[in-house]
Amino acid sequence: MNRIVYLNGDWMPENEAKVSIFDRGYVFGDAIYEVTAVVGGKLVDYAGHAARLQRSIGEVGIVCPLNADDLLAVHREIVKRNALNEGLIYLQISRGAADRDFHYPENPKPTLSLFTQSKKVLDNPNYATGISVITVPDIRWGRRDIKTVQLLAPSMAKMEAQKHDADDAWLYEDGFITESTSSSAHIVNAQGTLITRQLSTRILHGITRRSILDLAREAGISVEERPFTVEEAKAAKEAFITSATQFAIPVVRIDGQPVGDGKPGPVGKKLHQLYLEHRVATAI
Ligand code: PLP
Repeated sequence: MNRIVYLNGDWMPENEAKVSIFDRGYVFGDAIYEVTAVVGGKLVDYAGHAARLQRSIGEVGIVCPLNADDLLAVHREIVKRNALNEGLIYLQISRGAADRDFHYPENPKPTLSLFTQSKKVLDNPNYATGISVITVPDIRWGRRDIKTVQLLAPSMAKMEAQKHDADDAWLYEDGFITESTSSSAHIVNAQGTLITRQLSTRILHGITRRSILDLAREAGISVEERPFTVEEAKAAKEAFITSATQFAIPVVRIDGQPVGDGKPGPVGKKLHQLYLEHRVATAI
C-alpha cells in the first residue's frame, strides 16, 4: 500500500512522510486526533468532527495552521488523491518538535498530518451479529473529553478483551460505565428508554453519540443522559456502541452474559438505520 498522505502543507507518498523524533506528539503524547468516516467518497458528520477538533486543540493550546475552509479542502483532497470510496480519514495535530522539556515551547510549529484508511464501513458483519464486551476498570486520565493520542489504556483494555475472546471492552469507574474503549456506550432499559452517560470530562464527547441522541429524540424515543452501572448494563434489554466508523453496533454479551435475548435489539437497529438515512446519506 502506498497512500498519498498530507504532512504540514505537502502531499507525498506515505513512505516519504517523516516527523522528527523530538516531536512532542512522539515524546509526550502532546497531540490531538480526529477520525472522520468516508462513505461514497464523502465525509460523514464532518461538521461535528471539525468542531470537536477545534475544541480539543483549544483545551491544550495547540493552534491549527489551517483555517476551517482549508481543513475541509484538505479532507476532500485526500479522499480524491487516494480514490477513497469507503473508510476513514485520520488527522493528527501535535504541538510540534522541541528539545525535551515538560513546559511547552514558546513558539511551537504544530505538526499536522492526515492519512486515509480504506475500510468496509457499510458492510460490517457486526451490525447483524452484534459484539461481545468484557468490563474492565477505566484507568485513563481525567480529561477524556480531549481527544488526545494517549491511547495506551484503551489498547490494553482491547488486548484484555481479546484474551477473553471478547470483541471489545466497556470501561467502568466507581461502579458506573464510562464508555467503550474507542466508542460511546449506550443501553436500552425494559421501558425502551435509551440511557447514555451525560457529557463531562469523564468521557469523549462522541460525535456519533450526539447524532444518535438527536435522531432518537426526533423519533420519539425517550432518552436519559446519566451514568448507568455495570449491573444495569447487564440487566438491560439492549446495549450498543456508537462511533464514527461503526455507527451503531449492538452489544449482545457483557462479561459472557447475554444482553436481553442475546440478539441485536430493535432500538439499536432503528437508530443505526436512522443514522444511515440522516447522516450517512447527507455526507458532504
Ligand atoms: N469514546 C472514545 C473513547 C473514543 O475513542 C471514540 C472514538 O474514537 C468515541 C467515544 C466515539 O466518538 P465518535 O462518535 O466521535 O467517533
